[in-house]
Order: sequence, then structure tokens, then C-alpha cells
Amino acid sequence: MCKLRFFLLVLAVLSCQLKGIAQTHCLFEAGKSDYTIVTEPQATECVRYAAEELRDWMEKVSGVVLPIENNLNAGQQGKRLVVGHNKLLCQNLPDIAAPDGENDSFTYRSRGGDVFFWGDTDRGTLYAVYSFLERELGCRWLNSRVSVTPKSDGWSFGELYHSETPAIRMRCIFYYDALGHPEFAARLKSNDAHGSKYGGALSYWNCHQIPWFVNKDKYYAEHPEYFALVDGKRIADSTPCLSNPDVLRITIEETRKAMLAYPDYAIYSVEQGDGCPYCQCERCNNLKAQFGGTESGLMIWFANQVADALKDEFPDKFVGTFAYQYTRQAPKNITPRENVVVRLCPIEECQLHKYDANCEKNLDFLKDLREWAQVAPHLYIWDYVATFSNYMLPEPNIWVVQNRFRHFRDAHAIGVMTQGSYQSVSDAFDDMKAYVMARLLWDPDRDINEVIREFTDAFFGKAAGPIIREYLEFERSSLIWEDNHEDLYASHEADMYSDEFVTGAKDYFARARQAIIDAGENVEEYIEHLEYAEISICVLELLRNPAQGKADGSFDLLKRVIEREGITIWQEFGKKTKAEDLIEIIEKENRGWY
Ligand SMILES: [Zn+2]
Ligand SMILES: [Zn+2]
Repeated sequence: MCKLRFFLLVLAVLSCQLKGIAQTHCLFEAGKSDYTIVTEPQATECVRYAAEELRDWMEKVSGVVLPIENNLNAGQQGKRLVVGHNKLLCQNLPDIAAPDGENDSFTYRSRGGDVFFWGDTDRGTLYAVYSFLERELGCRWLNSRVSVTPKSDGWSFGELYHSETPAIRMRCIFYYDALGHPEFAARLKSNDAHGSKYGGALSYWNCHQIPWFVNKDKYYAEHPEYFALVDGKRIADSTPCLSNPDVLRITIEETRKAMLAYPDYAIYSVEQGDGCPYCQCERCNNLKAQFGGTESGLMIWFANQVADALKDEFPDKFVGTFAYQYTRQAPKNITPRENVVVRLCPIEECQLHKYDANCEKNLDFLKDLREWAQVAPHLYIWDYVATFSNYMLPEPNIWVVQNRFRHFRDAHAIGVMTQGSYQSVSDAFDDMKAYVMARLLWDPDRDINEVIREFTDAFFGKAAGPIIREYLEFERSSLIWEDNHEDLYASHEADMYSDEFVTGAKDYFARARQAIIDAGENVEEYIEHLEYAEISICVLELLRNPAQGKADGSFDLLKRVIEREGITIWQEFGKKTKAEDLIEIIEKENRGWY
């Protein structure tokens, strides 16, 4: 072992030296490096963090701890990793454009032996570092707990020049793991990660906010006229009467307070309530008639006035409103202001078919998307990527989201949020989806099979990875067919599931387990990851056929994984949303809707 290691070290040193003759530069070799990480003294917290991330992840790969100097004169020329857009960069690469903060595009590029990392924003600089660590040194951040850092005895380079620009400006991976771990969200390039360390969030403050502003407890008793008139009654639990001038005044005041109190956001919710009634008073109805009879016309008329009132004081901020359920259709005779963002929600969409597949469940939405893209200067999509009735069920929608993201990009959406299992970690396939979707939001034309291969090989190991990919193909061909549609609330009794699917799926997991054992590498960790994926099949089996799942070990496996991974919530709403409720449901073999 020692001899072999010494031999490899000698080889690494030799190869570094030989490459050196051909004008290559040795970043590290045999646990040593001459390099210094350099930032400017006035570097922001985010740029300093980027330098620290570069140091810390490089250490895991090379065993070397590079010094960080906040001084542009530090380090030896040709042996510097220069982080951030600063004077040293401009001297060495005078042709590059000044950053305009428009998006998070980034570059890493060598000059002599120096390597420069910079972005259009500070976030971009941080992403340049992550991209270097991923592409050049093979680092992978698979979820907030699992990272892969391939050990290396030496690494050298000739020319380095890599640049990327995101297709979607605001990217929000709305999964529990990313939401609760901004450091991980930043590594996914999900730019709603809060904290100046990560370059600040480019995201929405809250949702469904108008009924919270015009609060029923505060106003209903004295001013019932603020609230929606439905069938002759003023309803407290409603989206308020938008044509009432006091409702507008209160909303402007409260939005202003929010912009002052929470400055770390880009867009502030001035949005209808969720699933509650809306006003049908004469004044509201007359306004709707002016806008082609559309509910969205009244909503935009209202949001525009809030936006006008706040535009001068907050020139960089947006007022955000919904195109959701009854307001999803685009308005007539009115256009949203430049500082209004329309958040369009395809909550009715089919999870099994691409938008291009002409699925009847998606056609209306596609028409609305086209029409909004024509009238709204800024569209933001709130997309849905989970089964909210049971987060853990197998859902093959990873094969359709790429097509959706392309449609969103082509409609010039400035942002996309993917609402997944956001209340708890769920299963390994949700971690995989977050990983894949983050890359597809950045570049909707990315080869999805390559990204899935990257995740599955790193997470399950090279022996089981190919079998998990075979399973994913089996899942796709078993669950997606032409005449079957699924929304966000599929149950374990949905048409797409069958006992044959459960049996077939379990066979892939048994093979993957054996392959991990046979390969003999990292066995314990890879088996844990495999089980974390397998629970999706166990849950389906146990709800369909609890006696069988208890007999064949699925129940024990599910209980073990729930405990180990800290899964707390299994469905979005209902009376029994906790993971312990799920265990009880299976234990008592309860049927039906929970
Ligand atoms: Zn009204
Ligand atoms: Zn469909």
C-alpha cells in the first residue's frame, strides 16, 4: 500500500514536471502548492466567502491549504488564484467588460499561471469558483449532507477559459434541503439563497399577501366593505375588494413597510389569497368589464397602482402579483408596468406529459403563457414538481420538466421557482430532481441524461448508478403513457401504479444492492443512499398492500430510513401530514384519503 502510494506520488510529480516543460502550470502536487488565493482588501463578504470555499474544497481534493491574502500585491506572479472582479483582473485581462449586475454569468480564465475567477455579480464570482471545482477537480454537491471530492495527488493545467450565462435570471429550487441550507442552495446556483455571504437573494418576499395586508382581524368588524362581496355578503376570508380605495391605500402602505423591513428581496408579493373568494361588487365587475371581462385585468389594474406609488422610492424593486387559478388568463386592454412581475402558476398542469406533447391538460396553460408573454414585461413562473398528496411516491416528471423550462425560457421568464417537497426531506429521487432541475434552470438545453448520470454515479457509486438509471427508464416506461394524466395530487391508487410496477421496481433495487456489495467500495454509505431512494417504492407498496410490505421487509426499511434521514412530513396538507402518521396509517392498514 505504502509503496504503491509512493510510486503514484512520484508519477504525479513527474507528470506535473513534464507538463511544465510544455507550458503547463502545476496547481498542486504531492500535498504541496506554491499558489496563493488573492482578493482585494475591500472584497465583499461574498467574494471572501468564494475565496474560502475555493480554499476549503481544494484542501479536500489535494490535502493542501492555500493561504488567502486580501491584498492584490500578495502572492507570486503566475501562482495566484485571483477571486473577484478587481484591479488585478483588469490589468491582466484588459478587454473584459465591466460587470453590470444583470445576471450571474461568470468566467474562470488563466493568464500565465494565474487563474482569475469573476462574475457579473458577486454571486457569479462564487459560481465561477464552484464551476471550477466541479468541472476541473470533480467536486459534486449532491445534497446538503453528501458531497464528493475525488482525492488527487497532482493537478496541472495549460490554458483555462470557461464562461457561462444563465438562461433564467432568478432560479429558486424550492425544496426543503435547499431552502434550509443556503450554502447548499448557492452550490446549486439557486439564487434565492439568503445572506450576504451568498451574494444576497434574488427572490420573492412572501406570497398570497393582500389578505394579510388587509387583515380580517384588524379591519372586518369596522370595515366589512373592504372584503369581497359574494352573493350579497361581505366575506372576511377572501381576497379583498380591489376597487376599494382604502384597500389600495393599505396595500401600498404595507408593501412599503415590507420593502423597508426586508430589503434583501427583489419582488414583493401583492397577490390574491389562496383558493379564497374574490369580490363581485358592482365597481369591481365594471372594472373587469373594461379589461375584457378578465379577473386578471382588475388584479393588474390594482398592482399597477401599487407599483406606481412605490417606483420612485424603490427603483430597483418589483411589485409581484399572481396569474393563478381565476386570474391565470391574460388580461385585455391593460398591461403590467415595468416594475410589476406577474407570477404565473401552472398548478393544473399534467405531470406526465411534456408541454410539447399536446396533452389536453396543458393546452389552456400554454395559451395563457403565450398571451402573458406578450403583455407582461416580466414573467415569473411558479412551477410545481412534487406530488403534494404524498411526497415520496414515484413520480417520473423529471422527464417532462426540461421541456417546461424551455417553454418558460422562450416566454422570456425572468424567474422560475420549482415547488417540490419543501416541508421536509423526502427521498433520494427528490434530491436528484433538485440537482438536475438546478442545472436545467441554468441551461434548459443541458443533456439531462448526462446530469442524471453524474448524480447517480456519485450518489450510489459506479456499480449501482447504471442500475438506478435502468430503474428510472423502467419507471418512465411503466408510469407514462399517452392517455394517462396526473396532477399534483396522485394517490397510491392512481391508474399509473400497479402491483407489477412495484414488483419490477423492487427487483432493480435488489440488483443495485448486490452490485454495491460485489464492488466492495463504500458499501455502507452507498447502501444507505440506495435505501433512501428505495423508500419511494416501499411507500407505494405499503399503502397498496400493507401485509405484503410488512412481510418482505419494506416496512422496517421505511421506518429505518425515516428515522435516519430525518423525514418529518410526508404530505403537504390533511389531518395526518407527519411521517409518524404515515407509519401509523400503514401499521393500522387504514385505507382511503388521509
Ligand atoms: Zn369589489
Ligand atoms: Zn397529460
